[in-house]
Amino acid sequence: MSTPTVYAMTIDGEAVPAASTYAVIDPATSQVAGQAPDCTPAQLDAAVAAARRAQPGWAALPLADRRQYLRATAEVIDANAAELARLVTLEQGKPLAAATGEVAGLSHWLRETAALDLSVTVNQDDADRRSITRHIPLGVVGAIIPWNYPMGQLSFKLAPALLAGNAMVVKPSTFTPLSALRLGELLRGVLPAGVVNVVTGGEELGPWLTRHPGIDKISFTGSTRTGREVMAGAAASLARVTLELGGNDPAIVLPDADADLVAERLFWGAFSNAGQICLAAKRLYLHADVYDRIAARMVALAGQVTVGNGLDEGVQIGPVSNRRQYDTVIDLLRDARDHGYEFLTGGLPDKEPDGLFLRPTLIGDPPEDARIVREEQFGPVLPLLRFHDVEDAIARANASEYGLGASVWSADPDAALAVAERLQAGTVWVNEIMHLSPLVPFGGLKQSGVGVESGQAGLLEFTERQTIVVKRRDQ
Ligand code: NAD
Repeated sequence: MSTPTVYAMTIDGEAVPAASTYAVIDPATSQVAGQAPDCTPAQLDAAVAAARRAQPGWAALPLADRRQYLRATAEVIDANAAELARLVTLEQGKPLAAATGEVAGLSHWLRETAALDLSVTVNQDDADRRSITRHIPLGVVGAIIPWNYPMGQLSFKLAPALLAGNAMVVKPSTFTPLSALRLGELLRGVLPAGVVNVVTGGEELGPWLTRHPGIDKISFTGSTRTGREVMAGAAASLARVTLELGGNDPAIVLPDADADLVAERLFWGAFSNAGQICLAAKRLYLHADVYDRIAARMVALAGQVTVGNGLDEGVQIGPVSNRRQYDTVIDLLRDARDHGYEFLTGGLPDKEPDGLFLRPTLIGDPPEDARIVREEQFGPVLPLLRFHDVEDAIARANASEYGLGASVWSADPDAALAVAERLQAGTVWVNEIMHLSPLVPFGGLKQSGVGVESGQAGLLEFTERQTIVVKRRDQ
């Protein structure tokens, strides 16, 4: 086997090799996929300082010039998409086709966001005074990314933060740093030095970045537990925060729904990316009239799908992305087994595999207080829950500290809409799931987050409001 590539960080437009590196593990093979730098505190200081130096010049550019830079960034990503996608599959595990789509999504987000505007509100404009409120950049944004979409999660931050005139220090997940390191390298030739810096390291790097006095905003995506630590860390300097956190998204299927169609959509709505999507369906509430049919169809699908190495042709579901998450999912499976819940398909693996593969697991009607119902599984395990009365389904769906996404399925869109309006979630879909757009904001209610990403509202999260009042006439 060839020696794994050693990647460099990008600081101030330069390659910065690390004093020490750590091994990034391919979850499909447990082999080393590459070596990532372990950023030191001094290197983080250098990255923040470079961003602080670069930011005023970046913000002073006309908006049209920054738009052009975003488009040029999209072009270089497209030109290197195959390599970036392969890295995503190697470090994260998802099928190559899905990784290719993820990288295409990053350039799509850059182009669509480039078309957004930073509006100016005229508060007053008369003989006495002119008062306007405009949106100015925050300064330096620390972007902290989770491992489930190493490129996709970055797109929600990179595009609007740069358009708004901020410089950035990007910190990918410890588990999936390689694609972001390579992206940083590609951007060295595209963006002015210091505008985007990429640093990688172990679990201490996130807290260092969060508490760094040179950071004006932390844009964080990850678990609710870490989100609380980020908010506490940012409090020291009153750095602004946007937090995109965990979810336990319910899907409610009404009795008139097309059972076969819904079963297929919800199967992929739950098991795409091996279930490791914040907005995936994580609890299905199925009306008793359609429960058996949907369960049977989903069991059949689970039996047909190809689980394997994402680099192999025809693989539909890759491994769980890292050992930590695999152990979390195994723990939930053991709990379900120990409580005697019904495994309709899947379950615990017979032996410890080389790769972190799990077959899609469906659990039949566990009690509402089961851990697999109450907790975010973030893996290929799904509880199917039976209901008779829609009021009961709504109450159960809302009985969660989370409020990220939800979906309602029915042949009658108005009936579904009436249910959707009563669900406590930042996004509720009717008859589809997980549809995101660069023009539509998304974010979590309750403990699923603070603030939104994407769309005009997501762009404005990377700005401060400033009011300027010009007096026109002496009193
Ligand atoms: P995580 O919270 O463990 O890690 C997220 C990031 O934070 C990583 O880069 C990690 O290195 C860093 N980090 C860890 N400890 C930190 C600390 N104390 N301070 C600052 N940074 C720290 O999450 P994960 O396991 O990478 O991702 C899975 C979680 O992310 C799930 O809960 C999922 O629902 C959530 N998620 C949410 C969204 C959303 O948009 N709401 C999207 C994707 C994932």
